[in-house]
Amino acid sequence: MLYGAIEAGGTKFILGIGDVHGNLLERQSISTRGPNETMKEAADFFSDFPIASLGLGCFGPLELDETSPRYGFITTTPKKQWVSFDILGTLKRQLKIPVVISTDVGAAALGEITYGAFSSQQTLLYLTIGTGIGGGYVINGRIHNGMLHPEIGHIQINRQPGDLHPANCRYHDNCLEGLAAGPAIESRTGLPGVQVHDDHPVFPLISDYIAQALATCILVLSPTKIVLGGGVMERAFLFPIIRKKTLAHLNGYLETEALQHMDTYIIPPSLGKHSGIMGCLALAQRAAKMP
Ligand code: ZN
Repeated sequence: MLYGAIEAGGTKFILGIGDVHGNLLERQSISTRGPNETMKEAADFFSDFPIASLGLGCFGPLELDETSPRYGFITTTPKKQWVSFDILGTLKRQLKIPVVISTDVGAAALGEITYGAFSSQQTLLYLTIGTGIGGGYVINGRIHNGMLHPEIGHIQINRQPGDLHPANCRYHDNCLEGLAAGPAIESRTGLPGVQVHDDHPVFPLISDYIAQALATCILVLSPTKIVLGGGVMERAFLFPIIRKKTLAHLNGYLETEALQHMDTYIIPPSLGKHSGIMGCLALAQRAAKMP
């Protein structure tokens, strides 16, 4: 039996075909344009494979309340063509198979806990730190959504003294995404992110802000493992800085085995860039079992 997977991002859609063992057999990337063009290209790709079901991890915000008439809609995205777009309903109509939807970061968290090196972990927090910042939380094998879904990128942060740089968020002056995501790094340095040298003082600054958010997440969610992905976190030297600063913000309040081994507690994705698409594959397998 084959399963379909879509990791729907703001700049590209990754389309995948997998089997029951979690092997990704086909993978294709298409650029995100308007909904009509993009969804047609995706449907054309899947029409070549006899897939039983599909898992979708999508950029958001999304309506994930199953009792809502707008369940499966993209809601208030800055991408105007996609505002109020019924992506779940469109896929179901196009493909005529069961489809399960999650946030892109929720799917990445599920991918890591299902197929990564941490499958024995009960709870896993996945943060992507790149063009934006988002977080997904898996508890007892399920992606936590709740009222909407977590929006960890917009946790409020205490600025370091002297940091008066305007935040890159239209809603908040002091949120994590506005202060520490890729666009904030570029705005602070005046350089494309990839050109900013590792020694630049922007990195200790954003590491502190990420650590503040992680300390908050640890206190609220008590995750068994924290995975940090996304383009910014490809700079591996940030991990030890963030681990140390996270402990500093907790200031000895929590004493756990995990916090004594920070190098195995706050870690890079074990699936590399494939966490999201693998999570979508896991969602598809669940969709196939739905009544
Ligand atoms: Zn914000």
